[in-house]
Amino acid sequence: MSFERSLAQRFPGAIPMRQFVAASQVALAHQGFLPDNTLDCVGLCRDEICVPFGDALREVWGPTFSFASLAGAVMPGRTAFGAFAHHAPLVGGRQRIACFGFTHVALDASGEPGPVERPGLPVPSTACGALVGLLGELSSGEPLPGPDLDDLEYGLLRERLGARVEPGARLDLIDLTMLAHRVLADDLGRLVLEGVDPSKMDAAVYTGVQIHGPGGVEYIWVGDAYALMAHGRVVLA
Ligand SMILES: [Zn+2]
Repeated sequence: MSFERSLAQRFPGAIPMRQFVAASQVALAHQGFLPDNTLDCVGLCRDEICVPFGDALREVWGPTFSFASLAGAVMPGRTAFGAFAHHAPLVGGRQRIACFGFTHVALDASGEPGPVERPGLPVPSTACGALVGLLGELSSGEPLPGPDLDDLEYGLLRERLGARVEPGARLDLIDLTMLAHRVLADDLGRLVLEGVDPSKMDAAVYTGVQIHGPGGVEYIWVGDAYALMAHGRVVLA
């Protein structure tokens, strides 16, 4: 199988990263979210190969509040989200925020999920490494370990996703990536819904999966795309 075929099968509708950044900018502008009246938060995996996506968003939107965490999991919580929301500019009596939350996965030239080439490494490594590690733990059949204060972020990711996996379920990396997306999208939606007063603030949410292809190509698959406005919830096309 080729990368292109694997991408089309596993992530139907995925588009090149820069095309997503431009299209989301247009969709947000239609709802009044503009770079000079909106503060963005970006939650991608900490992995350095995710940086180009964050940079492309910052090229449009300016400095962004960081929600970075392993696998793009939403770990900041109410305190960080509250700070972010309070920092949003007040323009025309309203504040506007836009949240971009994405997990990630690599597809190699043969369409295999996981392997990714990194500069200076003689053999491919994996993305998302945290999800590959968790997949190994889930597949072992052993009980998952409890929280570890010296590995807090991964421990919370394991707890968050592990709770949503039936014992004995056979998952592959794409299954776990899509579960990581669903959990982060639900968590982000919950934080936004709880933290936003629609009479004072407009909030937009994009979630999905960042896909690293061979030769450094980057694609984006969109999961959730909506805005919470004074007049209700709007789907972002
Ligand atoms: Zn990762």
